[in-house]
Amino acid sequence: MTRLIILFYGCFLLFSSCKQKPVFIDFTYPEGKYKALVLSYDDGTIQDIQLANLFDQHNLVGTFNLNSEYLGTKRGWPQQNGDTIFQKYVAKDSLLFIYKNHEIAAHGALHKNFIDITDKEILDEVNIDIKNLTELTDRKIISMAYPFGNTNDSIAKLISTTEIVNARTVDDTYKFDLPKNYLIWNPTCHDSKVLDYLNDYLILDKPKLSLFYVWGHSWEFEDQHRWNNMVEFCEKIGKANDIWSVGNGELTKYLKAIKKVQINEYKIVNPLNNELVWIKLSTGIKKLEAGETIEIKTIANKQTSKKNTDHEQGI
Ligand SMILES: [Zn+2]
Repeated sequence: MTRLIILFYGCFLLFSSCKQKPVFIDFTYPEGKYKALVLSYDDGTIQDIQLANLFDQHNLVGTFNLNSEYLGTKRGWPQQNGDTIFQKYVAKDSLLFIYKNHEIAAHGALHKNFIDITDKEILDEVNIDIKNLTELTDRKIISMAYPFGNTNDSIAKLISTTEIVNARTVDDTYKFDLPKNYLIWNPTCHDSKVLDYLNDYLILDKPKLSLFYVWGHSWEFEDQHRWNNMVEFCEKIGKANDIWSVGNGELTKYLKAIKKVQINEYKIVNPLNNELVWIKLSTGIKKLEAGETIEIKTIANKQTSKKNTDHEQGI
């Protein structure tokens, strides 16, 4: 009889401990979101003031890629049709005002075309830009957009030796996938096409990390029709509370942090030196702090979990 009671009690303990442990479902973005938005704008011309303002009005975060050696100047850019476009760049001492709520990123100190210059010149373009922008803002500069969008595998490898952790091209994918290589980061689309993809993204409802990545130049919004489209885009996407509007650098750091989390059938360990990550458990959404370990009953769907972390493997 005593044995039976012990056996029953043991089974009860086992059952209740299993019941208390949650099932791991997925990694998510902050607050359990699966969708994200990056707005990446190049050159640092004065039209950024109006654009950053529009983002501010709708609580959207932009990533502004600046040519630091041109800040405060005016210069002409010869066009293929023989015209010259004159650009006026934002003042050096205004960066922390204009981009207060936004990420400041590199775009080459002098906007040289990386496929036409030597490795040393590429490194100078990047490192001088980082140095200038760091001195002007006291921020860490970790993102970049390639001047003219031009890059290749060997340039990306070279960039990986700098402090830059993500670098954007202009090769539109028209998809909402995360990149395979953060240093050859192909965006979803140029902002002239955002309204074509907006509704698809707003109604997207899949438990898989996705990204709507928009790029452009604020000086292109001199065209009123295109500006109006951007206003409409920001108004609508700014109301979506299931989309994480984020700078490219913060997003990259988050995705890298997910990769560092160790997970098996029994537990999830977020290493001590890692960032905070968010996970979805059978019991709900949970913040997993650096250094925190939780025991789990099992992994719900190994395929889904793998898919959610199945991005950047390379440099
Ligand atoms: Zn540019």
